[in-house]
Amino acid sequence: MALRMFEFVCDNGHITERLVKDDVREVSCSVCEGLASRIMSAVRCNLEGITGDFPGAYRKWNNVHREASRVANKRRNEHGPSSIDPTGV
Ligand SMILES: [Zn+2]
Repeated sequence: MALRMFEFVCDNGHITERLVKDDVREVSCSVCEGLASRIMSAVRCNLEGITGDFPGAYRKWNNVHREASRVANKRRNEHGPSSIDPTGV
């Protein structure tokens, strides 16, 4: 079976690109080593639209992206611009 490049996302929202067999659905995250689930590639999504092949994975992908930007905003708010001060020691 040929290897193909797929994207995987773990519960922490890390995106891992991995060359795997077509039937591999889960790998360990390259960042936190948690379980990462395969997500639909952007190319496939554009070509075929939402065909229902991986509805769960697509929903998860959406949720992860929303969650990631929400967390990023929260971090930005918590730390604020004043904490980014390399000279302030
Ligand atoms: Zn991870």
